[in-house]
Amino acid sequence: MAEGRSLDGRLAGVVSLVARSFVADVCSIYLRLENGDFELVATEGLKHEAIKNTRLAPNEGLIGLVVEGARPQNIQDAPHHPRFSYRPETGEDPFTSFLGVPILRFGRVIGVLTVQNVASRVYDDEDVETLQTIAMVMAEVVTTESQSGSEELADVAVRPNRPIELIGQSLSDGLAMGPVHLHDPVVAPAQFFARDIPAEEKRLKTALEQLRSFVDSMMMQQVSPLAGESRDILETYRLLAHDPSWAGRLYDAVSSGLSAEAAVDRARREHRARLQQAKDSYLRDRLHDLEDLDNRLLRLLAGKNGAIAGTDHDGAILVARRLGPADLLEYRNAGLRALVLEDKSTTSHAVIVARALGLPLVGGVDRIMAVVETGDQAIVDGDTGHVHIRPEPDLVSVYSDRLALRTQRLAEFAAIRDLPAVTQDGVKIELLMNAGLGIDVDNLDASGADGIGLFRTEFQFLVSETLPTLKEQEEFYDRVLNTAAGRPVLFRTLDLGGDKLLRNSRQAREENPAMGWRSLRFALDRPGLFRRQLRALCRAAAGRALSVMFPLVTTSDEFRRAREMLENEVEWCVQHGRERPTSVEVGAMIETPAFALSFHELKGEINFLSIGTNDLHQYFFAADRDNRAMARRYPVVSKPFLEFLKDIRNRAADCDVPISICGESAGNPFFAQIFVLLGFRRLSMPTSAVGSVKQAIRMLNISEKKQSFDELMQQNSAQLEKDLLNLLQHDAQV
Ligand code: PEP
Ligand code: MG
Repeated sequence: MAEGRSLDGRLAGVVSLVARSFVADVCSIYLRLENGDFELVATEGLKHEAIKNTRLAPNEGLIGLVVEGARPQNIQDAPHHPRFSYRPETGEDPFTSFLGVPILRFGRVIGVLTVQNVASRVYDDEDVETLQTIAMVMAEVVTTESQSGSEELADVAVRPNRPIELIGQSLSDGLAMGPVHLHDPVVAPAQFFARDIPAEEKRLKTALEQLRSFVDSMMMQQVSPLAGESRDILETYRLLAHDPSWAGRLYDAVSSGLSAEAAVDRARREHRARLQQAKDSYLRDRLHDLEDLDNRLLRLLAGKNGAIAGTDHDGAILVARRLGPADLLEYRNAGLRALVLEDKSTTSHAVIVARALGLPLVGGVDRIMAVVETGDQAIVDGDTGHVHIRPEPDLVSVYSDRLALRTQRLAEFAAIRDLPAVTQDGVKIELLMNAGLGIDVDNLDASGADGIGLFRTEFQFLVSETLPTLKEQEEFYDRVLNTAAGRPVLFRTLDLGGDKLLRNSRQAREENPAMGWRSLRFALDRPGLFRRQLRALCRAAAGRALSVMFPLVTTSDEFRRAREMLENEVEWCVQHGRERPTSVEVGAMIETPAFALSFHELKGEINFLSIGTNDLHQYFFAADRDNRAMARRYPVVSKPFLEFLKDIRNRAADCDVPISICGESAGNPFFAQIFVLLGFRRLSMPTSAVGSVKQAIRMLNISEKKQSFDELMQQNSAQLEKDLLNLLQHDAQV
C-alpha cells in the first residue's frame, strides 16, 4: 500500500494480492459514497467495466448484509441466498462462495472487502480473521487518502463531514457553541503489525491482567469511573472482563501477526459497529460494556491508566452515549460548555447534575455518536433541543449573535445581583433558588437569591449508589445550612417514586407513575426510611431554625401524619439530650388540585405553603409535564390556570398562611411578573433564572399595571397570553 502508485493502482494491487493468497477467484473492495450507496472501487476477478459503475444501496445484496450487521458474512451458496442481488455488469454468476467483511472506521461501515470462489468453499475462521485484518489496514489507508484530499476518493464518505441537524429533548436550558469532545475517547493504535509476536502476546497478557485487577478493585470499592451502575451491572461487566472467549480472540489476532493494540482496536470496531445496529437494550448494554473494556485496554497498552475523564476540555461540548453521576462530576472543573447524550432518560443523574452545574443539555439524540467526532464544531440549543454538527457559517453567525446577546444579558444580571428585588413602586419580592446538590448550594452567593425556597432532598438519594445513611444525610443537611448561613432553606422531604426510582429499587413499574405510589404517599408507607430523613433534618438543624415541607400532599390527613412524624423526631432529639432546632416550621407543597381546594382545613396547623407548578399544572390539565407534544398546548398563562392560582393565593391569605411558588415557571420573567400581579410575594426558581427574574421585578410597576391586568383577567379573551405579553412588554414566548 505504501508504493508510490495512484490509489486506484494500489487498490488493484491489493485485490490481486489478496485473491492470490486466499486462492480466491475474486477479491473486491466496495466503499461508501456520500449518498450512502456502496460503490465497487477495485476488483480482481469481476469484470473491470463494473469498477466505479456498480453501486449498491446500503441494504442491497450480500454487501448490504455485511453493512447492516457490521460483521463478516461467510456464505457457501451465494447465488441462492435470499439476499443475493444479481448485477450482470459484474459477471458474478459463476461464483458460489462468498466471504465479505466490513471496513470499519469510527464505528461506521465505510466499505466492504470480499473474496469469492467458483467452487463451493467454506472459509475458515482464520480466513475470516485475516480478511478482517486486511480490512482494518484498508480503513486506515482510505481514511488517510481521503483526508489528504485524494481525487480518487472525492465521492467516498470516509468520515462524516456534512453539516447535520439533530433534534433531541431539551433537558437543561442554555446555548453553547464549541468543539465536540467525545466521552470515552478512543486511542488509535500506533502500530499495526507485531514485530515480535511473543513480545506482543506478553504485552497483551500484562494489559489484560491490569485491566482485570482494575475491574476487580472497582467491584470491591464500587467507585467511579463506573459509579452509578448497580452491583449487578458491575458484576456482568466483571464477568466480561474475565471472559476467555473475548481474550481468546485477542490472542488469536496477535498470533496472526497483529500488534496488541491493533488486535484490541479490531475488536473495538466490531463491538462499536454492532452496538450501532443492536436494537435490544440488554445486548446494547453488553456491547457498550465490551467497547468500554476495549477502550480501557487500549489505554493500558498505551501506558495510560484505566480512567476516563480528562480535566482540560475548556469550552468543549461533551457528547456521550450516557453518563454516570460520577462521570459528569469528574468533568466538573473541565470547563465544559454543554452536554449532548444519546440517553433518553429525563431523570438520569447526568440531567440532575447538568442542571445543577447550569450546563445546557440535550438528551435522546439518537445515533449522535455515529456522526460526530472529537474536534467537530457543534452548536447546542438547550432551549429547543436542537444540535447542529459542523454547522454552516450562516448558522454560526446567527448563533454567535444570540450568544453575544446572552452574554450581554448575563452582564446586566450580574450588575444587579446584590440589589434587592423591589418593584418600581417599592414592593419587595423575595426571590429564592431551587437546589438539591452540594454543587448548586455552592452557587447561593453568586446567584443573588435570598435563600433556598425548594431543596430537593431526593437528589442525594438519586445520585448515590446505596441509600444514604442517617449520618450522611445529617452531614449533607448540615452543610446546606452552613452555606445558607441563616438565609431561609425550605427542605422538601423525599419526593421519590414515580419516575424518580432509587437505584436497585425493587419497586414495580407502574402503569401511571405520575399518579402512582410516589412522593409523600411512598414516604408514609415506608416509615423507616422517612423517619430516618426527618431525624437527620432535626439533628442537622440543632440550635438553628428548621423549615420542612412535604411534597404532593393530597389530603389533610396525609399532612397531619407527616407532621406528627416530624414532631416525634423533634421530641426524640429532646429525649436523647440533643439540642433541638430553635424553631420548626412545617409546610406543604400544593401540587394536586385536591389539596389546592382543601388546604384551608389545616388553618392553624400549617406554617407555609408552596405551589409546585410543574406538578400542579400537569394534574390540572391532565397533561404530562415531560411530554413534548403537551409542552405548549396548555399554557401556564391561560385563564383557568391563572384563576386557579389566584384563588389559591387568596384562600392562603384568608388563612394567614404565607405562600410561595416554586415550580420552574417562577423562573420565567414574564410569568414571574404575572404571579406578582396575582399577589404572590415569594418565588423560588432554578438558580440560572434568578438574574432575569430580578431584572423583570425591578422593572415592574404593580400599581401602574394592576388595573389593566385585572381587566384582562375579567375578559374571556381567547388571546389572554398575547394581551398580557403586550401589557408587560415581553416578546412572544417560544
Ligand atoms: C413542582 O412540581 O413544581 C416541583 C417544584 O417539584 P418537582 O419539580 O421536584 O416535582
Ligand atoms: Mg413536584
